[in-house]
Amino acid sequence: MTAYLPQYATAAIPRYTSYPPATRFHSGVGESEYRAWLGAIGPKDTLSLYVHIPFCQTLCWYCGCHTSVPNSNDRVLDYVESLKQEIARAGARVSRSAKVLQLHFGGGTPNFLPPKILAAIIETLMEQFNFDHGAEISIEADPRSLSKEHISVLAGYARVRVSLGVQDVSPDVQKLINRIQPFDLVQGVVEQLRAAGVDGINMDLMYGLPGQSVAHVRKSASMCAALEPDRFAVFGYAHVPWFKKHQRTIDEARLPGGQERLDQAEAARATLIDFGYAPIGIDHFAKPGDSLFKAHDEDRLRRNFQGYTVDPASALIGFGASSIGSFQAGYIQNEPHLGRYRDAVKSGGLPVVRGVVLSPSERRTRAVIERLMCNYEVDLRQIDDALNCEVGMYPAAISKLKPLCEDGIVEVDLPIVRATPRGRPYIRNIAACFDEHHGKSEQRFSRVV
Ligand code: SF4
Repeated sequence: MTAYLPQYATAAIPRYTSYPPATRFHSGVGESEYRAWLGAIGPKDTLSLYVHIPFCQTLCWYCGCHTSVPNSNDRVLDYVESLKQEIARAGARVSRSAKVLQLHFGGGTPNFLPPKILAAIIETLMEQFNFDHGAEISIEADPRSLSKEHISVLAGYARVRVSLGVQDVSPDVQKLINRIQPFDLVQGVVEQLRAAGVDGINMDLMYGLPGQSVAHVRKSASMCAALEPDRFAVFGYAHVPWFKKHQRTIDEARLPGGQERLDQAEAARATLIDFGYAPIGIDHFAKPGDSLFKAHDEDRLRRNFQGYTVDPASALIGFGASSIGSFQAGYIQNEPHLGRYRDAVKSGGLPVVRGVVLSPSERRTRAVIERLMCNYEVDLRQIDDALNCEVGMYPAAISKLKPLCEDGIVEVDLPIVRATPRGRPYIRNIAACFDEHHGKSEQRFSRVV
């Protein structure tokens, strides 16, 4: 059994899908920085594109995404028009020679959009950017509304990956999270995708949901693994009702406690390993032979806002309300509010509202934390060599790591810092020791376990 260490498990720490985390973004960084970063993308640079579709048919009560249920079709069409304008405006600033390696649709529910509209957005992107012939198009999809027409549009592109949101297969848990999704439906979608030639299939599962037990998690993992997707992501439910008001609908008394959450995570992990999946980073699993598995094996794994990725692109450009772009120099975020996003696009500008410029020390920390989150260990000298800097072996971080060493969750053998097997569930606590901003403000994050 994995050791439940409350002093670490209950700590509120960022998920480190970026460093600094989005809570550090501020309005002092905006359109002029963004224009400069887009313009600095060189012909040899590679790109990743992200498109946010902030609509869903119904709201799942556990949802932590930026989404809503639109009250009219016009609202959706209006959004798509703004999106196309934004794509054209940003695309005009980027070198036509820079190759796009990855396009990802997230949300919300990207397949909330009718298939033709989805295809029109992809065409707009392909007109404005230079897609590599091997570029992958990935999309987060709700199996409940993924139609045959959606599948046929997606199957028309060369490399497609569909991530199906499943979470839990049991009706009793589904009722408590307002997401009724019979398992037969998921199975049918997988069969349709494969019949259409879409072989890149991921599934998302969750633990820590209300009413969930180890048995529920084991059942979900084994039924889904029997469908043989390439990859799984297994996320712990983050209960943040102060931030996501609809989570107040969730009965806190039905939420599993800390040890139970850890046992559920361990049950998912053990079940997927039994089915032949290899654990990748903190919450992903892949079949041996899958590109994510190979990237992990060859130390090429990356972590971004979508989680773990093989995408080596030097810049990520985000489109749509709330989307985040990532550049060597820093991060930039679009206006999250749909009305204000539309108005900002209409006014002729790029709809960005906040961001952060990375200091040299934050760039080092970004690299250190990314390696820790991907590999559970980091070679600090390798990071300094890669960034061409030599300013000492992180004395403040090493001193913060001392109590974690004493508790047996990390080993420091400079220049290597490595989580022990017992410390792996607490990798965010280890990463936080390198985070110069952590604990300096009142910002609230989800708990580690
Ligand atoms: S379908 Fe996904 S994005 Fe939409 S409410 Fe449910 S969890 Fe959130």
